[in-house]
Amino acid sequence: MNNNNSILIVGSVAMDSIETPFGKRESILGGSATYSSISASFFSKYINIVSVVGKDFPKKYIGLFRSRKINIDGLQIREGQTFRWKGDYNYDLNLPKTIYTYLNVFGSFKPVIPDYYKGSKYIFLANIDPDLQKEVLSQIKRPEIIICDTMNYWIDKKRGPILKLVKNIDIFLVNESEARQLSGETNMKKAANFIMSHGAPCVVIKKGEHGVLFFSKRFCFYAPAYLLETIKDPTGAGDAFAGGMIGYLSSVKIINKEHIRKSMIYGSIMASFTVEDFSVKRLLKLSMRDINTRYNEFKRITSF
Ligand code: AMP
Repeated sequence: MNNNNSILIVGSVAMDSIETPFGKRESILGGSATYSSISASFFSKYINIVSVVGKDFPKKYIGLFRSRKINIDGLQIREGQTFRWKGDYNYDLNLPKTIYTYLNVFGSFKPVIPDYYKGSKYIFLANIDPDLQKEVLSQIKRPEIIICDTMNYWIDKKRGPILKLVKNIDIFLVNESEARQLSGETNMKKAANFIMSHGAPCVVIKKGEHGVLFFSKRFCFYAPAYLLETIKDPTGAGDAFAGGMIGYLSSVKIINKEHIRKSMIYGSIMASFTVEDFSVKRLLKLSMRDINTRYNEFKRITSF
């Protein structure tokens, strides 16, 4: 399905194994495109994902995308194994230790954007190989907004291509340690300036439980994280943030300062739900009412 407000999300669909101080799960649904598309699906009915899985990918997970009305015409099913990632968190939930990353079918993935996706107005290049992100950009028409994410794995291997890519996008997302790794700066303002000096118009730095920073030449903004008591698994928080952000932006008529600020609050809300359970379990139980309740609480705790 397509319409003028379609969101195109390209990223990983994965089988994750996760260990946190609060539990352990094997081969659960994960991936950057998974979290971001499910999160965005609360704001838009027109979400198209492009990704790849192996023949081992459980059918029930395919059904799960369908249950959120996410279009998976662009999800290739290839001979071989699905991308697998294992992350281990200690009590500092902001920084997982990667135990392994098996690219599997992602190793030879060539994203093919179905023709009718090419006019999507809102693009989220979720965390995947930056060369694939670039390939996607070369296949689409100039959209309203392009948001792009990455992670330490790719900064280690492909720092140069990431720094080249940022001038072709509108908002670049990284977490705090990735911002340091990419820029060589410890101070977040300097790190953001470094990324902007490579042509990124806006930079968002995610600081986990300490909130999120927005930088651009015109304005800066800080949103705290929603105060939670129960955190089971921080995996996917960043992707759910991005999904909430682009989902909200696709629902407004113009993208201005006020809506950018609000999109960061919606992003933070979606991240806060995600971490309350493993995989996408909490997101799947969510209603728009829950989201709005948390939005109002957010307003209360940040107003002075
Ligand atoms: P987040 O916690 O938002 O940074 O994202 C976690 C998700 O990213 C997990 O579900 C993983 O499957 C996925 N992931 C981990 N490493 C990579 C990678 N190198 N490329 C793409 N996706 C990854």
